[in-house]
Amino acid sequence: MDLMEKIVSLCKRRGFVYPGSEIYGGFGGFWDYGPLGVELKNNLKHEWWKTIVFLREDVVGIDAAIIMNPEVWEASGHTGAFTDPLVECRECHQRFREDTLREVKKKIIQKSSSGRVGAISLSGKEKKYAILSVTHKCPNCGSEDFTEPKRFNLLTEVYIGVTEPKERAYLRGEITQGVFVNFRNVVDSTRIKIPFGIAQVGKAFRNEITPGNFTFRSREFEQMELEYFIKPDEKEGEKTFEYWKSQRMEWYVSLGIKEEKLRLRPHKDDERAHYARKAEDIEYEAPFGWNELEGIHHRGDYDLRNHKITYKDEETGEEYTPWVIETSGGVDRAALFFLVDAYSQQSERTILKLNPKLAPYKVAVFPLVSNKEELVSKAREIFLSLKGELSVTFDDRGNIGKRYYSQDEIGTPWCVTVDYQTLKDNTMTVRDRDTTKQERLPVDKLLAYFQNLLK
Ligand code: ATP
Repeated sequence: MDLMEKIVSLCKRRGFVYPGSEIYGGFGGFWDYGPLGVELKNNLKHEWWKTIVFLREDVVGIDAAIIMNPEVWEASGHTGAFTDPLVECRECHQRFREDTLREVKKKIIQKSSSGRVGAISLSGKEKKYAILSVTHKCPNCGSEDFTEPKRFNLLTEVYIGVTEPKERAYLRGEITQGVFVNFRNVVDSTRIKIPFGIAQVGKAFRNEITPGNFTFRSREFEQMELEYFIKPDEKEGEKTFEYWKSQRMEWYVSLGIKEEKLRLRPHKDDERAHYARKAEDIEYEAPFGWNELEGIHHRGDYDLRNHKITYKDEETGEEYTPWVIETSGGVDRAALFFLVDAYSQQSERTILKLNPKLAPYKVAVFPLVSNKEELVSKAREIFLSLKGELSVTFDDRGNIGKRYYSQDEIGTPWCVTVDYQTLKDNTMTVRDRDTTKQERLPVDKLLAYFQNLLK
């Protein structure tokens, strides 16, 4: 099995992620998070919120509605420009994102330079079509015959109301617009002054043409975004853009992602979204290649200008349309890449080396054996005393070695075992996932010990 197959299988087997609507055959691009997956996602969102909102004085949060007045999407440019180029296979009529086929093109060029396909020295459009027709095969039927690329809108339509004709609206394609339309509300109700940010976490929906690579490209997903408003000034824009780029890279590294697996990639001119003056992606080297984890965008005054929103500096009386620097990360992509990054194997043992802050369970409590009533009831007592404070699980099945391995596989950083000595002196063993070292601690020191490690 390759790494992605192992991750997908682990996620299903242990309750991180299940295929959406599975008992009805699934539904392309939709996934359900299980008991461990929801904890992982909640931990990620909590860590993000702590860093972006709680620890700062210049950022406040909101939670806007998913469905907004459709005029929002007209003004934001999404009904016109939120599109992906699509090609259709002329044989089986399956559609593919042209830019995902482009990646294949790169590989083919590399092959050709090593002499395996022969030298191809075409450029631009010519190169793309030469390769599509010469070497690229439809992933579905193997045909090499594709239509010209067409642009398809990614917004998902919904119909609101009870009487016909119902009003057409959209599920939000990005959570961002909810922040812009509430800009004035936030300024008026909090008196916050520029420079400041508005943070939000929530679901977004895109009619992705080719969802895939597990949860990486879904049709329903969650975003965590900061819109940081500044004075319209080139230098200020540059400085703020650079600042947030490094802040966001540091955040991933501080939670344990391997630094060498992360990179920043500036967008090329023809790649930038319709709203962006400047954009760079934080990419992660996944088993399926370098791929976007988070986008840092300099949106200029594009959005506030289109929504006709201005800001008045109460001290100077100056009125202007602020610029905005955005950091836009995907919760699902982060969850997936943290899982991939943490996955490791030592012979038969699988270990998810997740940062304890992200681990679904912080502690697992075991009785040494399950058929000694005193050990089981003591272990349950300790489990219940920790449970109100931390995410804790209890296990008394099988032998202790198997229980350790089972917790390693889901990333539980500490296992606590009640043994015969516990009954005598109220101490228990704490076993560390990564070192497998054990130490004895008094029961009444346990909570403080874990809380300290989780700081
Ligand atoms: P891509 O080029 O991969 O389609 P994008 O550039 O359209 O992504 P943005 O519009 O910048 O993505 O969205 C910000 C973040 O939202 C992305 O970095 C990603 O983490 C997340 N995201 C976007 N589309 C999806 C999706 N279909 N499934 C899961 N997460 C997504």
